[in-house]
Amino acid sequence: MHPSPLRGERLTSWLRRTAMEYGLDLYELIRQGLDLQQKPYGFSDWRPPEYFITALSVKTGVEPEIIRRTTYTGALPFLFSGTVKPKSVLLPPSDRPLRDLLEWLPWLRNERQTQLMACRACLANYPKAGIFLSWRLTLVLSCPEHRLMLEPARVTAESVYWLGEAAEGAPDLVHMLDSRICQALTEGYVELPGGKVQAGDWFRLMQTIQEELSRRLYGSWNDSSLILKVWSDSDRCSMAGYGSKSFERISPHRKRSMLIATAMDLIERGSITPVGVDAKLFRSAPGNVSWLSQNQLAKTF
Ligand SMILES: [Zn+2]
Repeated sequence: MHPSPLRGERLTSWLRRTAMEYGLDLYELIRQGLDLQQKPYGFSDWRPPEYFITALSVKTGVEPEIIRRTTYTGALPFLFSGTVKPKSVLLPPSDRPLRDLLEWLPWLRNERQTQLMACRACLANYPKAGIFLSWRLTLVLSCPEHRLMLEPARVTAESVYWLGEAAEGAPDLVHMLDSRICQALTEGYVELPGGKVQAGDWFRLMQTIQEELSRRLYGSWNDSSLILKVWSDSDRCSMAGYGSKSFERISPHRKRSMLIATAMDLIERGSITPVGVDAKLFRSAPGNVSWLSQNQLAKTF
């Protein structure tokens, strides 16, 4: 009677599916199933109290560590601890302090009431299907499993209503970035061409690239031309498949993800040679190939 949490599933989604097995709603499950008279203060996918996780673990037999990973503080602890060291990828290391990772919290979508971004294929058999942590990250644009862009949907306990007409396929670069972000969320690490990095370092690398691309350039001609190349290639990639839509109409989230993904892809294909200390993580060892070719996605933009 106890479904296990799916990989990357949110706590509230897992509990909703568990409650459904008993013919209860989420809060009836907490009151009756967990012997808690009221839902714990601050109960959500963020940081449920430890006594709640313990009670849940005892009743379901699921390890507390697995339950913690169904929350944002459990899956992305570095967002809340600020312990990740500064990086440099595209540009030489700078004395200028990077913004604190806590400022990344706005990178989580503000989900209003029942509306969220979701994958149409993942929710095909809703309400049995799960809702995933990654869908709330503004950096994540698609579902790596189904290669579909996330879409706005209204989700209640029983039903899902799609606000768009059809799912859009995910461009290769978006798929590459989202596969890595979702690996960081579910596995706690990401495999890059130059080696494996911990999830916290991975998020810091993405943040670093974004900041380096936004920095005012006073450096060498090489630095400036490299940054301009990433911007112009990214513009071209973002426009692909958009027909007559102007670049201005593409969402800021999509532009940002495309910029970060383009920078990584250019380094991996050897089209740019940045001097940042951590750029080596995106360079393949001799004999290796870039992520896109490795995944047989020869069609780039
Ligand atoms: Zn999906």
